[in-house]
Amino acid sequence: MSLTGLSQEKVSIRPDKFIDPANMDKSFSPGDDFYNYASGNWLKNNPVPAKETRWGSFNQLRDFNAEAVKSILEDVSSRKGLQSGSAEQRVGDFFASAMDTVTIEKLGSTPIQADLKRIDQIKDTKGLVSEMAYLRTQGLASALYGFSVGQDRKNVTENVVNLSQGGTTLPDRDYYLVDNKRNEQIKAAYEKYVETLFTLSGIKPAQAKAYFGIVWEMESILAKAQWSRVEMRDPYRTYNKFSLAQLEKKTPNLHWATTFGDLGIDAPDSVLVNNPDFMAAASELLSTKSLQDWKVYLKWNLLKNASGSLSTPFVDASFAFNQVLTGQKVMTPRWQRTFSTIDRNIGDLLGQLYVAKYFKPEAKERMVQLVKNLSDTFEERIKTLDWMSDETKQRALEKLHAFTPKIGYPDKWKDYEGLVINRNDYFGNLRRASQWSYQYMIAQLGKPVDKTRWGMTPPTVNAYYSPVNNEIAFPAGILQFPFFDFDADDAVNYGGIGAVIGHEMTHGFDDQGRQYGADGNLKDWWTKEDADKFKALADKVVEQYNAYTVLDTVHVNGKLTLGENLADLGGLAMAYAAFKKTPQGQSNELIDGFTPDQRFFLSWAQVWRMNTLPETAAQLILTDPHAPSTARTLGPLVNMDAWYQAFDIKPGDKLYKPESERIRIW
Ligand SMILES: [Zn+2]
Repeated sequence: MSLTGLSQEKVSIRPDKFIDPANMDKSFSPGDDFYNYASGNWLKNNPVPAKETRWGSFNQLRDFNAEAVKSILEDVSSRKGLQSGSAEQRVGDFFASAMDTVTIEKLGSTPIQADLKRIDQIKDTKGLVSEMAYLRTQGLASALYGFSVGQDRKNVTENVVNLSQGGTTLPDRDYYLVDNKRNEQIKAAYEKYVETLFTLSGIKPAQAKAYFGIVWEMESILAKAQWSRVEMRDPYRTYNKFSLAQLEKKTPNLHWATTFGDLGIDAPDSVLVNNPDFMAAASELLSTKSLQDWKVYLKWNLLKNASGSLSTPFVDASFAFNQVLTGQKVMTPRWQRTFSTIDRNIGDLLGQLYVAKYFKPEAKERMVQLVKNLSDTFEERIKTLDWMSDETKQRALEKLHAFTPKIGYPDKWKDYEGLVINRNDYFGNLRRASQWSYQYMIAQLGKPVDKTRWGMTPPTVNAYYSPVNNEIAFPAGILQFPFFDFDADDAVNYGGIGAVIGHEMTHGFDDQGRQYGADGNLKDWWTKEDADKFKALADKVVEQYNAYTVLDTVHVNGKLTLGENLADLGGLAMAYAAFKKTPQGQSNELIDGFTPDQRFFLSWAQVWRMNTLPETAAQLILTDPHAPSTARTLGPLVNMDAWYQAFDIKPGDKLYKPESERIRIW
């Protein structure tokens, strides 16, 4: 922001030097601690800001994008006479309503009082189950189990009903099931959170205290029935097709004959269930717990979901609880939280405005070329793999050639037709947007799958691979420094966005992705021998990452993070091979004192430098399928001969891995 208040926007977070030696700490040797060698001074000089839980390249760029969006939000929310229903009007009024704290404070818990009363009037189990469905259709809560409409992964051209495990509040089932000091602290904070929200909603404090006991007991039973995150990574184990009759038999108390109607759909012939044990336990719980307990549980689901959007005491209670989980010191500013809310609710409207103002079409052209270079390199490498038979190679190439790349933003925007956004009604806006999205989702049943849809919004600093669509997507938000810059040398771009492209491509061939075919269907296209060889190689990766620790003694879960680690390994190797085909990759010209290869690896380290609050690190090690940033930086490097050569790393150096032990899969 300029001091004059005149618009003087920064064009990027790019420093003067793309690889800045001032960020390094050369008191570390690259062979002993490459993470600190590459980023030590940056890590020292960039502690986690009070409003954040981690701080690194992704967060810096996300913050920069948020500031860019802020200027759009402030502009459209202050404009008069916008056409009703236009993207500008709806985005602007959504923002204005969220920033209208006078109205929000005055309303207190009013926006959910009618919902709380309705729950009070429930008479029986059927009424409970029906209310759960209603809360889901309103986007007010996803109580007890998950319901969604999405692609059938064995028949990806069709959308089907999916039922999934859920019903708990804490970030992982371990918080309910494992006794230790940290979990005790979190339970205490959770207790306070439940009591505070109930009290704020008008319940007497003593009663609210008793309510926590009810919520905790029910959620603990559900947590026990959930499968672990590692178990949930198995696409076959979590694919369970039930006919309607089978479903009714397995979960009689969920009253499907009427529930599907309450959810707004015709009863389907069959549904997909990710964890049938969980659904059975959920149904069972409906008969073992009293109606009164269930009302408490439903009210809790409503309260916790609404709390962030109500008046200050609710928002504060929600933040106080999150603070204990994550360690965050101060709340993210209201405008920034609002940006996330708008992005989540009407992302295609905001995305249109963001792209029109900030996305350079040349970036798309350059990305198309980079994706092609990476794809060609991937092809060459598949052809030369020594562990894979020609038969499997043929199918791997078919799959690679069938990738759909998506770059920047969708070709077709969602129009949110009929969604009314009102300047004076924040909670109503949220509710109507949720209703719209819900109706949009269920309308996909029986319709052909729309392949133009994106899984991320344009300002997002991220990328993804979708196995069922066999597509890789790179939102506009990530196509900037330190991932990508028009003026940067190839080493920087290939070590940044090149590795990201390679990462997403490799997801198509990681331990999960490899189980999907070129057309996106879950099916086995591997010879038994090749599959066994792949698993043996993947097991080595599990072992390598199991050995990494965070917070001194907590080990990375090599099985939980396997897919991401495989993608990093393959992605960086691919990006390096593609980089070596560029003129810079073939030269030895120094820039700021570094060889092209050194710059490639330093760029990779630059992308992954990150400070993380200890509380957040403890949570992520349980829940995040990505390894911590130190492990992500080092994991692929120690398997690449070129890295040893670039920094002259020798036996005896702490990171040294003998050549015969280096893992190369793709
Ligand atoms: Zn990934």
